Amino acid sequence: MAVRETYRKSEGLPFSPLEASRRIGSLAIVPLVVDDALIGAVCVEGDEVGQLTAVEGELLSMLAPVASVALKNVEQLQDVTQKSNHDALTGLANRRQFEERLRHLLLEHARHRQPVSLILLDIDMFKTVNDIFGHQGGDEVLKEVARAAEHTIREIDLCARYGGEELAILLPQTNLAGASRTAERLREAVANLRVPSPSGGAPITVTASFGVASYTESVKAGDLLFPAADMALYQAKSAGRNCVRQAMSRSSFGKGTAGTV
Ligand code: GH3
Ligand code: MG
Ligand code: MG
Repeated sequence: MAVRETYRKSEGLPFSPLEASRRIGSLAIVPLVVDDALIGAVCVEGDEVGQLTAVEGELLSMLAPVASVALKNVEQLQDVTQKSNHDALTGLANRRQFEERLRHLLLEHARHRQPVSLILLDIDMFKTVNDIFGHQGGDEVLKEVARAAEHTIREIDLCARYGGEELAILLPQTNLAGASRTAERLREAVANLRVPSPSGGAPITVTASFGVASYTESVKAGDLLFPAADMALYQAKSAGRNCVRQAMSRSSFGKGTAGTV
């Protein structure tokens, strides 16, 4: 702990030079330490010389262990929350976070009537990628596809790893045509990937198929959004893969209709 009852700028800069300069008369800095690691500090400043006494410094130092433990607990809680919401391999949101966001967006729709779109991305013949390049090669492809997807979408969209080699992308305030354009950009981004092969040979290339659906253009009930996108994805696979299919209007959904983009 450091307590300066008289502190002047000339004694040196205790804070970053980038911080706004201010007149400090007295200053106490109490380090926050947990398990011998410095995790932060409590800083108390007074404008006037002598405003902060050594006794007050002692009181602050009694507070420090309590603050340290509280901060550490917050850090651990954030870590657990991050792990429970994200996929460990790709760092994308996990299925649980996806379901939660979808529920929120559908509730919001009730108030603002904004469209909600969903893109399902499924890597083509991924089993073959694993067979040729090993599980490690497959994992590298998954990470690169996830990164490409995150780069292609907007900040307000949510890209989740929904299953093994399947990503689900939620696009708030986006209609069917807009979501289909995003899916087409994603399709190109995936097809252009060159993933280094673990064996050091030629880079791995992959393609992906896409199903797109929009609430309320494709379906009139929110819980039909996922099945509609899934059906469109199935049609993209049937059409030969490496393409985008969109679930058509509400009246046609249910009859298995999906349109070409
Ligand atoms: P399709 O074009 O019809 O989608 O064919 P596919 O081979 O991609 O689909 P299939 O469902 O037959 O195989 C999916 C494969 O994805 C099988 C599974 O081993 C692999 N997979 C799932 N999760 C992971 C993972 O975390 N890492 C790796 N390397 N492979 C995974
Ligand atoms: Mg699949
Ligand atoms: Mg697949």
